[in-house]
Amino acid sequence: MRVLIKGAGVAGLTAAHELVARGAAVMVAERTQGFANAASWYAGGMLAPWCERESAEEAVLIRGAAAADWWEAVLPAGSVHRNGTLVVAPPRDAAELRRFASRTSGYRSIGAEEIGALEPALAGRFREALFFPEEAHVDPRRALSALRHGLEAQGVVFSGGTIDQGRFDLTVDCTGAARIGEIKGLRGVRGEMLYLQTDEVALSRPVRLLHPRIPLYIVPRGGGLFMCGATMIESDDAGPITARSLMELLNAAYVLHPAFAEARLVETGAGVRPAFADNLPRVMRQANTITVNGLYRHGFLLSPAIAEEVAALAYDVPPIDPSPTPPHKGEGLSSRCDRLQFSAVSPDAKVTAEAEAARPRKPLPPAGRGWGGANSDELEWNEGKHFCFSERRGQDR
Ligand SMILES: Cc1cc2nc3c(=O)[nH]c(=O)nc-3n(C[C@H](O)[C@H](O)[C@H](O)COP(=O)(O)OP(=O)(O)OC[C@H]3O[C@@H](n4cnc5c(N)ncnc54)[C@H](O)[C@@H]3O)c2cc1C
Repeated sequence: MRVLIKGAGVAGLTAAHELVARGAAVMVAERTQGFANAASWYAGGMLAPWCERESAEEAVLIRGAAAADWWEAVLPAGSVHRNGTLVVAPPRDAAELRRFASRTSGYRSIGAEEIGALEPALAGRFREALFFPEEAHVDPRRALSALRHGLEAQGVVFSGGTIDQGRFDLTVDCTGAARIGEIKGLRGVRGEMLYLQTDEVALSRPVRLLHPRIPLYIVPRGGGLFMCGATMIESDDAGPITARSLMELLNAAYVLHPAFAEARLVETGAGVRPAFADNLPRVMRQANTITVNGLYRHGFLLSPAIAEEVAALAYDVPPIDPSPTPPHKGEGLSSRCDRLQFSAVSPDAKVTAEAEAARPRKPLPPAGRGWGGANSDELEWNEGKHFCFSERRGQDR
């Protein structure tokens, strides 16, 4: 199967990896030279499904729980740091810690002594914390580069030019926020971040500092480099960080550890997280195009599961519609659900489906309930077959 993947962010590269693993001949089209236009480049790289459950659906926890295993299997040894997450709050915000605890699981409450044992740099600074031992993190920039190099080594061609989609059996659209305005309900959530460098602080794991208005996380990158993030602003503006966001993030970093005041500010940036109203991603098939979008703040966490879904859909579908009609600009995919298919298995698809079933693969996360909606214009979760992030209407939070 010849597959064109549009977009070399985390969604595109993970999908490419899974499709190549199943024998597809893949080409990746990316409109920019490097990764700088991708939200993925600005991510914290936290694989933190238990912490994210504080504001995310159970589905994110279920589907994200195996992400660290996937990344560990795919990236060079030592790329996945499985040191957990530490969540702290200054004594005046102790209520925030209790609120966070009430909405999450998979942690243990710890006191000052254990905080100091886990992170000596924070000894004496916080009286209580939550420790999520199963969580992990990666350096997203290294992860993206490693994925790309691995794909190139397997013959995947990356192209920046115009590509004739007609040469391919399947197109997988992973262009993220670029589809805002084209896919119904897709919006942008701006995330501003910065990199600080200092030898005065050492951390072994992501640390989240709770605050009612300006929560902060700091992810250590090694070599005295720290990624600090991130704002959550309802906007698809990818422009430079604002003075206000910069001040607030730096203030919060200072609260976490005063030595950050002397750190060098080596980079600031902003990425636009593509999101649907319920903040869950979608994998949508329409004729010979699969669209992946809406990864919100969970691109690294959920891409492994999403990529498996893409590959399953790719190899498990009726023959290509000979006269596909792409949606027009401004016409959302979800308004055309009558034309969308999810994992339909026809007799013609049986051979590839059997080949797919025979392929040795990592176990999927445990089965949970799907979240396909009941409305007739929504795509349904294909129970017992794939765990699909299917089209569904949700509530704004
Ligand atoms: C500050 C910040 C922190 C985050 N932290 C985390 C975190 O800790 N953990 C986590 O799991 N997630 C995190 N996220 C979320 C994560 O980064 C996103 O969910 C993810 O990057 C979305 O990936 P994507 O591949 O869909 O989109 P993108 O990464 O935006 O990639 C889309 C790509 O498509 C390309 N493109 C667009 N149009 C075209 C076209 N027509 N042809 C070809 N190419 C095209 C773009 O240039 C881009 O490279 C964070 C996001 C931000 C902004």
